Amino acid sequence: MLCQPSTCALTMLAPAKLNLFLRVVRKRADGFHDLETVMTSINLFDTLLFEPTDSSEVTLRVVMASSQNQNSLPPAPIPTDSSNLVIRAAQLLKEYAGSSAGVKITLVKRIPSAAGMGGGSSDAATTLAGLNRFWNLSRTREELSELASQLGSDIGFFLGGCSTAICRGRGELIEPLRIPTSLHFVVARPNSGLSTPAVFKQCRPNESGASVEEFAKSLQHPGNCRMVRLLLNDLQAPAESLNDDVKQLRQQFNKLPVLGHLMTGSGTSYFGVCASSRHAGMMAARLRAAGVPWVHVARSCS
Ligand code: ATP
Repeated sequence: MLCQPSTCALTMLAPAKLNLFLRVVRKRADGFHDLETVMTSINLFDTLLFEPTDSSEVTLRVVMASSQNQNSLPPAPIPTDSSNLVIRAAQLLKEYAGSSAGVKITLVKRIPSAAGMGGGSSDAATTLAGLNRFWNLSRTREELSELASQLGSDIGFFLGGCSTAICRGRGELIEPLRIPTSLHFVVARPNSGLSTPAVFKQCRPNESGASVEEFAKSLQHPGNCRMVRLLLNDLQAPAESLNDDVKQLRQQFNKLPVLGHLMTGSGTSYFGVCASSRHAGMMAARLRAAGVPWVHVARSCS
């Protein structure tokens, strides 16, 4: 059946991401930091449902998905007002396109917030792409990318639709990467979250010469141990200085037979690289038994 945009509901998935490599290159005059990072999207998704309405308003309902995890309380509450990135993205697109259309949006949250997994950015990117279809606006990828850059740094990565990429600048310069096989992870998050600006305030540029290109090359052979030796996150030390839970997770991962481990983004989530989904499942069981409140077995999206 051909679905007429804005008369039929549209459902879209917004993936989480992990940063496998994150180097702080320099602090810029505008206060932001230039980064070199490799992001990969994983099979943990928020769901966005766009439904028609007679009104010209954009409305949002946020539903917390029930979780099998022991404690699914978010470390930071998800806003339901105009500060939610979903509403901000919808309003921005509506204004840009000069549209008087409305929409009823339901956001089902599964991605932990304030956890370095890019949930809000992914929701915003999915809203831009989803409403472009739902409202039949026919805006180009370039136009949507320009709007994305006004909303936040990681939104362009999710909008690009590539599963793995090198992102430079504030994160808006995106170079897609092809990786030969899925990567397997166990992801854990403590009950506490961290504010991204607070972590960036504590960080220093990395002058060690760590190379994102070299890391990207190592991803072409994910079975060998070079990739795990090159895992890097310059925000991990600042995050640990602000949050003991991250330090504790690192200590727990140190005792696990994973191939390598790292904090993602500005934290507080932490991941271990595993050899297979079975291996990741066994590591998840050990973390749950040790009382880690939120544990997820994931693989990179293809
Ligand atoms: P990043 O890795 O991009 O820095 P994050 O994963 O650490 O982000 P998010 O989950 O994106 O963090 O949310 C950070 C803050 O943004 C939350 O504390 C919340 O108040 C606000 N926020 C706005 N919109 C959303 C949304 N749709 N989902 C989650 N948080 C949102």
